Amino acid sequence: MFWIERVIAESRVHSAAKIKAKTPLVVRDEKTASGRIHVGSLRGVVIHGVAGEALSEAEVPAQFVYEINDFDPFDDVPSSLEREKFAPFLGKPLFAVPSPEAGAENYAEYYGGEFIGVIKELGFEVQTYRASDYYKQGKFNAAIKTALEARDLIAEIYERVSGGKRGKNWFPISVICEQCGKIGTTKVSSFDGARVTYECGDFVEWAKGCGHKGEISPYDGNAKLLWKVEWAAKFVVLDVDVEGAGKDHSTKGGARDIADAIAREVFHVEPPVNIPYEFFHIGGQKMSTSRGKGISAREMADLLPPKLLRFLMIYKEPARVIEFDPEGDTIPVLYDMYDRYAEEYFKGEQGEHARMFYFAQAPSARKNLKKHLMPRFSEIAYLVQMPHLTLTEEIEMAYGVTLSKVDETELEQRAAYAKIWLSRFAPPDYNFEIQKEFPEAARGLSTKQKEALSQVLAIFTDGKKLTGAELHTRLHDIKTETGIAPAEFFKALYRLFLGKESGPKAGLLLGVLDPDLVRKRLKEAIES
Ligand SMILES: [Zn+2]
Repeated sequence: MFWIERVIAESRVHSAAKIKAKTPLVVRDEKTASGRIHVGSLRGVVIHGVAGEALSEAEVPAQFVYEINDFDPFDDVPSSLEREKFAPFLGKPLFAVPSPEAGAENYAEYYGGEFIGVIKELGFEVQTYRASDYYKQGKFNAAIKTALEARDLIAEIYERVSGGKRGKNWFPISVICEQCGKIGTTKVSSFDGARVTYECGDFVEWAKGCGHKGEISPYDGNAKLLWKVEWAAKFVVLDVDVEGAGKDHSTKGGARDIADAIAREVFHVEPPVNIPYEFFHIGGQKMSTSRGKGISAREMADLLPPKLLRFLMIYKEPARVIEFDPEGDTIPVLYDMYDRYAEEYFKGEQGEHARMFYFAQAPSARKNLKKHLMPRFSEIAYLVQMPHLTLTEEIEMAYGVTLSKVDETELEQRAAYAKIWLSRFAPPDYNFEIQKEFPEAARGLSTKQKEALSQVLAIFTDGKKLTGAELHTRLHDIKTETGIAPAEFFKALYRLFLGKESGPKAGLLLGVLDPDLVRKRLKEAIES
């Protein structure tokens, strides 16, 4: 079963009252804008976004809501930034840290805005908000009061669920210091029902307090709840129905367990339907050495078109890790899988593959899905490296079709992304250049190889131009007739035209080369 069907079924039970009252369900996810947002965070986005879309399609209207958390303290200067310039802001809320570059209102907007741009490119109809705005608008006031009054119970829940002890004078809140503006350096020591007293000091290793002691109302954006309590408060404040938790928060006794218990016992609501999801790992040699930090959501969105990126994030069970190595043949393999699932969909099948293909499309595209040609990505990647060709003509010839408008759009998109992939991540096998002169690598062919090549020459001298597919068949016939080992035969062809031992399907390659060049080169090889 496609995991999404499980989410729909659970939501029908969990939110039965809201569904009956025709109130749209809320599917929520968030990201703290503490630096450039890694591609891994897109897994949560796509899981939640698709869950929202699937619910709506199952006649359970749902709204996908995404929070940019800009109220957490700035607790680390990313290595990409100048430490001296940003260190003085450590401890301040992210919205009070300056943007690394001009154009964004603050640090959180700079990174959060970029990420929201990617989410929208993926086609999600998302409602976004900033955590600080909700606090400043007073939306958290009631939850803050409840949490402060229930601090003993909350401390008891922490201990019961996770084993962690909170001190006697623990309050689940941080205030913004009125003197230095930091939120990561304050400690609250009392609450009288309206105001809290606090001290700004050296309570954390990553930021220094100013020593100020004060008293302030904890409402209207002066303070924020500590995050596990805040998580539970968000379930209430936003009336959340579905919210998954990433692997790092999903361990037994972890953040989600604590938040769920606080939701039930302190705020008296049933926590949302959970979709625990595993990590998205980026692998690869270059990634782990020269690039070090992996790739950002923005970079990934430049590498794959939205539907493939959505597909990548949903085709596996959320509980399974996704290992993604953009440098191997992962991307061509991903396209092939996508194409197979598409075929199932267009055949009218209803299985999970067809459903995955369907939900990989943005809602606007789903309304008008037309069966179209999906030329293999790996073939396109070869064809775009042959500047003398017109891609549309080659594909029409190879597939024996006339391209429709939809076919052409698909082809153009694949060609554009193939060029990006070739220039950045493709393994050496995929990159090639047609050799203008007789390559050194093609000297010293065996008699058997030359015999097979003479038969290839014969195909090219009998006049009729064959398509890649026809050539493919003929090459296999020659292989059988001459009894040459396949590797020997195809290596000879690659050495002759590409100067290396591997390449695209030989039929496809010969089909797109200039026939004069093919004849000349084959003759030279046979006579050499
Ligand atoms: Zn201070």
